[in-house]
Amino acid sequence: MSKRNIIKSQTAFKEAVTKMPGGVSSPVRAFNSVDTDPVYFDRGKGAYLYDIDGNKYIDYVLSWGPLILGHANDKVVRAVQETAAKGMSFGANHLSELALVDEVIKRVPSAESVRFVNSGTEATMSALRLARGYTGRDLIIKCVGSYHGHGDSLLIKAGSGVATLGLPDSPGVPKGTVRDTITVPYNDLEAVEAVFKQYKDQVAAIIVEPVAGNMGVVPPVENYLEGLREITKRHQALLIFDEVMTGFRVGINCAQGYFGVTPDLTCLGKVIGGGMPVGAYAGPREIMDNVAPSGPIYQAGTLSGNPLAMTAGVETLRQLTPAVYDDFTIRIDQLTDGIKTIGKAHQIPVTVNRAGSMFGFFFAEGPIANFEDVNRADLKLFSHYYREMSERGIYLPPSQFEGLFISTEHTKADIDTTLNAMEDTFKQLQLL
Ligand code: PMP
Repeated sequence: MSKRNIIKSQTAFKEAVTKMPGGVSSPVRAFNSVDTDPVYFDRGKGAYLYDIDGNKYIDYVLSWGPLILGHANDKVVRAVQETAAKGMSFGANHLSELALVDEVIKRVPSAESVRFVNSGTEATMSALRLARGYTGRDLIIKCVGSYHGHGDSLLIKAGSGVATLGLPDSPGVPKGTVRDTITVPYNDLEAVEAVFKQYKDQVAAIIVEPVAGNMGVVPPVENYLEGLREITKRHQALLIFDEVMTGFRVGINCAQGYFGVTPDLTCLGKVIGGGMPVGAYAGPREIMDNVAPSGPIYQAGTLSGNPLAMTAGVETLRQLTPAVYDDFTIRIDQLTDGIKTIGKAHQIPVTVNRAGSMFGFFFAEGPIANFEDVNRADLKLFSHYYREMSERGIYLPPSQFEGLFISTEHTKADIDTTLNAMEDTFKQLQLL
């Protein structure tokens, strides 16, 4: 197989590393852990991406989740163009903000009142401030290997790029902040009970990804989310679901609708902006009304709720019907069944995890239920796999610690192509 030509991308990256830290605007884009040069993209349409050297890829990253309708969805693009022509930002109220609030409230069980921000990081930071202000307590609990953005309180034993680069506790996070964050293994209720026992009446909230998506994809074990709900209620602490990734990915009513567990606060991002920078936090009015100006807990943003992001979000959510989720199930079945079959045929251990339109697999024997299990995965094998798949036109997240996504535009034929590439790749891996 002749190698892909990515010379223009390589030239651009060489220049970028002299002008930007690591050459990138966000760490995982440097592809450090897969030992290959990152490509530069020219355009995307539907399920496909095209780099500046003219290579075409089937995209399973989808901008790390937001593009549930694929790249450059016609309706979203048209609506954004029309909105842009009327003014990109007012820093003031406008009706598309209300339209997105309505779409969110209609679909997210815990959302009665919504505040828009500009990223998932802002959503989780703001939700923590609210939880601390509301309860009058300082401590928060998070899971090892979960990623909730790069806010100080949450950058402790985090997943995603932090895990990929092996930087579990970033320098620059004050010691006091580290002390206020207690970590527990994902899917372990006893560990949560123990923290509440040790720190009686001091825990403001537990923040959790209802399906962990930043250590690869790791779904909750039976009764885990129900257990968190019960424990937090018993201790008058808040349960925060970080649905920045799972929101509208796991199901039409997010993970909370899918699993039937309603948190106090919900953080959203990614899909609700349809590819535009956006985030939100939401909950019952009784809690949300503590946010300024209706309450004393301050949080603000120059571009928050800006018309472009709101419009893209509205046009995206309105296209997400129950039939879309039925189709996702069929496509993910096809993919995950195919991966299992290929792994078996080539005697390479793989464990496949899935939830709605997100999925992932680990080069390890299962079950994989927490970050310790994830660390059994063969990262060297993953790195080879990554490079081989890139050469075959399949664009994957460049780390074993990330989930994969499909869009409404991924067809059966795209998945057949992907599985064929995988079959060839596993043949290569067997020879290593
Ligand atoms: N929470 C979760 C669960 C995420 O997956 C992410 C980003 N991948 C974030 C928060 C942070 O979102 P952002 O990158 O938009 O700040």
